[in-house]
Amino acid sequence: MSFFELLQTAPPVFVSTCLILGLMVGSFLNVVIHRLPKMMERGWQQQCAELRGEEIAPHTPYNLVAPRSACPHCGHTIGALENIPILSYVLLGGKCKGCGAAISPRYPIIEAISAILSAFAAWHFGFGPAAAGALLLIWALLALTMIDFDTQLLPDDITLPLLWGGLLFNLFGIFTDLSSAVLGAIFGYLALWVVYWLFKLATGKEGMGYGDFKLLAALGAWLGWQLLPLIILLSSLVGAIVGITLIIALKHGRNIPIPFGPYLAGGGLIALFWGTALTHGYLQLLAVR
Ligand SMILES: [Zn+2]
Repeated sequence: MSFFELLQTAPPVFVSTCLILGLMVGSFLNVVIHRLPKMMERGWQQQCAELRGEEIAPHTPYNLVAPRSACPHCGHTIGALENIPILSYVLLGGKCKGCGAAISPRYPIIEAISAILSAFAAWHFGFGPAAAGALLLIWALLALTMIDFDTQLLPDDITLPLLWGGLLFNLFGIFTDLSSAVLGAIFGYLALWVVYWLFKLATGKEGMGYGDFKLLAALGAWLGWQLLPLIILLSSLVGAIVGITLIIALKHGRNIPIPFGPYLAGGGLIALFWGTALTHGYLQLLAVR
């Protein structure tokens, strides 16, 4: 029996394979989360320099593969053995091998979250294209969440391919039918666009960014327009609870922007797994009254 057949027929093998895959991808997501915003910033600076007609100095490559990962304190290059997800962090005692500086626990935490969600998706959907799609969606949402926390940005380099990816999967009806997916993308974008302009006309402030519209459009493309109300409801609910807690607990100024992307991503994730069941649930509740 080939390994491929084993994946198909033995759910524990498929779930554990996705757990390990999720760990490895989580390690790569750490690189994406750290470097993509810096790559975008470099790109903008280069464009500005070009506009000003300045000579562009030759620059060292900086992308997702080069240069190799290094300790930000001492520059010690991180070898393959020090780069095993979670395990290396534990074996190194959370300290750099070169200088002993503490390594942020968020790296192994992101690897663990990626692994757990990947294994859960494998168990929930079982072997097949739906699990493959769910994994891609989960990894993209995880990267977007962390980048939005760090920088208040939702890079087009992730949101736009995510939207097309959702349409591609649903071309074959994996999560919803194609017309629901197309309408989901359009209404997802429009819903937040309308909220943005109403809020701006009423208060003169910008409540969210265009990245949020694109993220909800992507979620609509994956899950269909039918789940958009649930996603907006869930993300507003969690966003309001966290926002109010932050304002009270940390005296977080009410005017400091709180990123909305992580809540949309969270709402999208819940909708991916339980959206249809939850929607049926609340429609039934409404029908009873
Ligand atoms: Zn170091």
